[in-house]
Amino acid sequence: MGEPTELRCVNCGQLFPPWSLDYACPDCGPDKGSLEVLYNYRALGRRLTPKSFAETQQHSLWRYEELLPMGREHAVSLRSGGTPLYSCRTLAAELGLRGLWTKDDGLNPTGSCKDRSTAVAMAAARKLGRASCSCASTGNAAVSLAGFCASAGMPGFVFVPETISRPKIAQLRAFGVLVFAVGGTYEQTYELCSEASAKYDWFNRSAAVNPMNVEGEKTAAFELWEQLGGELPEYVVTPVGDGSFISGLCKGFRELVQVELAASTPAVFGVQAEGAAAVAHAFARHKQGQTILPATEPAQTIADSINVGRPRDVLRAVRSVAETDGDFVTVSDAEINEAAQEIARRVGVFAEPAAAASYAGLLRLLDRADIPAQARVAVMVTGSGLKDAGDYLDGLPGPIVVPPHLEALAEHLDL
Ligand SMILES: [Zn+2]
Repeated sequence: MGEPTELRCVNCGQLFPPWSLDYACPDCGPDKGSLEVLYNYRALGRRLTPKSFAETQQHSLWRYEELLPMGREHAVSLRSGGTPLYSCRTLAAELGLRGLWTKDDGLNPTGSCKDRSTAVAMAAARKLGRASCSCASTGNAAVSLAGFCASAGMPGFVFVPETISRPKIAQLRAFGVLVFAVGGTYEQTYELCSEASAKYDWFNRSAAVNPMNVEGEKTAAFELWEQLGGELPEYVVTPVGDGSFISGLCKGFRELVQVELAASTPAVFGVQAEGAAAVAHAFARHKQGQTILPATEPAQTIADSINVGRPRDVLRAVRSVAETDGDFVTVSDAEINEAAQEIARRVGVFAEPAAAASYAGLLRLLDRADIPAQARVAVMVTGSGLKDAGDYLDGLPGPIVVPPHLEALAEHLDL
């Protein structure tokens, strides 16, 4: 099993013993001082072979236990990870790409990539003997925590903006956690959860503040590597809200290099909605040598899972993407909607709008030649369309209303 050696502050670089802190660097605070879990990569590099993960015979993210902070004896039974990667040959040819793959993380147990982070955060809560967990989120992370709390038989407290979609509220209520729909922005929702978690001693799984999240999210990178036969694509494109998932992906690719299973990391591109682009703007400032923080802006997009005005993992996200020679791109809500419909129609994957932002971003990146022709690209689809199906109806033809007779049906068929 994995043995973390240290926690490192992503801002000041200070090192702390593993498990000595739950959340952020005490000197830098929660806005800057995200902690990163480190391992003995040299020892792992000597031990791990291209077949090591398969030999565990685990089909969840616990097959990467060697690179996780705890062993699977702490895991909750709900399965996370092991999601499919689809090769989209026709679409690749049309776009002039040598390879195009979509990774469907909407097929995690509660329907989003957040189940990866929750699986590891909940295992951490159990290892640490915590009695209850909490989470603030735009929806998916809260739903994920709720599902894992149900599976673990642990009390959960979740905080979501009151504008959250009805299917997500249904999931939350079904899983039986205490749900607070906060009459305010996501930022206010996040603050309330942080204050309450400190006061009542809940293990707070909110993005960025909890270093275990990235540990779960990075397993998507490991899976990609395994599913491509021990190789990595040249480019990876993913939606970005808080900046946590993209940080996880980058860490996963980096660790594959550190343990000598991969030669180099792909260039990782983050995609944000034009109306909620605080991380993309922070990245642009970073490229011009300006300060990354503060990164707070108004946020307004139909893609509710990435509708974040004050991203919490912005520092780590910006630095991680820069290290991979990646970049950020923004797309309009109309492009996101079209992308969601195209992924459904052409790949058979029903993605929520936020999850389809990656495909919309790929089209932009190809347009401006940031991703060249003949490249090999993986697109991350981060959540299921069943969570937010209402938006799909915009611009899609309705069903054909027919009486129950074959003759009437024939009038509509050109056969
Ligand atoms: Zn620090």
